[in-house]
Amino acid sequence: MMEKKIGLEVVRCIKAALDRGEDATFVPLHEPCFKGNESKFIQECLASTFVSSVGKYVDEFEVALSNYTGAKHAIAVVNGTAALHISLLLAGVLPNDEVIIPSLTFVATANAVSYCGAIPHFVDVNDRTLGMDADALKDWLRFIGIQRDGVLVNKESGRVIRAIVPMHTFGHPCEMDLILEVARDFNLAVVEDSAESLGSKYCGQHTGTFGLLGVLSFNGNKIITTGGGGAILTNNHELALKAKHLTTTAKLSHAWSYRHDQIGYNYRMPNLNAALGCAQLEQVNEFLKAKCALVERYRLAFQDMRDIKVFKQPKNANSNYWLQTLILDELIADSRNEILHATNNSGIMTRPAWDLLHRLDHFSACPRSELSVSESLERRIINVPSSAGLI
Ligand SMILES: *Cc1c(COP(=O)(O)O)cnc(C)c1O
Repeated sequence: MMEKKIGLEVVRCIKAALDRGEDATFVPLHEPCFKGNESKFIQECLASTFVSSVGKYVDEFEVALSNYTGAKHAIAVVNGTAALHISLLLAGVLPNDEVIIPSLTFVATANAVSYCGAIPHFVDVNDRTLGMDADALKDWLRFIGIQRDGVLVNKESGRVIRAIVPMHTFGHPCEMDLILEVARDFNLAVVEDSAESLGSKYCGQHTGTFGLLGVLSFNGNKIITTGGGGAILTNNHELALKAKHLTTTAKLSHAWSYRHDQIGYNYRMPNLNAALGCAQLEQVNEFLKAKCALVERYRLAFQDMRDIKVFKQPKNANSNYWLQTLILDELIADSRNEILHATNNSGIMTRPAWDLLHRLDHFSACPRSELSVSESLERRIINVPSSAGLI
């Protein structure tokens, strides 16, 4: 009885936040917003006939991304997972290495590690940022690792631990200064999974520009979309050249000869998608503004709900608030599914966090630290409608 009530209470609060009456239609979790030059640029792209692997929009999109984020280089690719795959290869990840990632992340982070023939090694997050916890990471690496010939080796598995992939959960930046310090101390490369956090800043600097390489996604549900797409960010000129080369089948530049100097990937972003991206990126600051206004509305609507917090950006961070997040108190964690049922039944799309990756069959044998915060958060997170168009 009690449980039924909380589901309906949450529906009421969300409707109040979104200013929707009883007759409101379905509200998706996140839908794209095409109110700028999308049609114009795509028409131009079609008229040019350059819809595929060559054309001006790919170059323009890469320059615009680099200007916006402050990364010296941006390489546009087919999706965020491909961007992660190539970034890990360029960070030196080899078959049978281990790569440190959070268990609380989208499955793509672990899949990309696996594509390199490497093994995900799961660590915990903190509830300040929902992202990787630097202190817990340091303690764990001290316990499990040993330095041998300049590389960190997992004492239990005997494998090299090569890199760390912090992920900025729902757009909220991790504590990158602390994570970089741990990475330096243990000789680990950092690849940022900033797939969700375009526009988010930590201490005034864009996420995705702290590590050796950073990754963006422009899937249809992200803050801006190219239909499907992604990008690799880096300040390292040599890595940028390699990223471009590897993602374009490792073809040697030549007027007519077709020659490739290694096994490459067909990961480049088509011009048609880049045209959409150029139009979307022009509007990113408006989307950010709308998302900040939306979190404020949720905060007001939920202010009398003692056991539910609307997650606010961590200290020193400007979050893009990609997905708005409710955190249930431990006391009502058992009501999570009831709330999910009640909201979805009322046409308000909500969802829990991802099932933790270390519990998936194919990753269950991977090494891991203690994951109590991730396990607690998994039971208490609910994402609620977050589209910029709701404002
Ligand atoms: C969306 C996402 C990706 C992958 O992006 P795709 O473009 O869908 O391949 C990777 N990591 C995280 C955390 C994501 O949310």
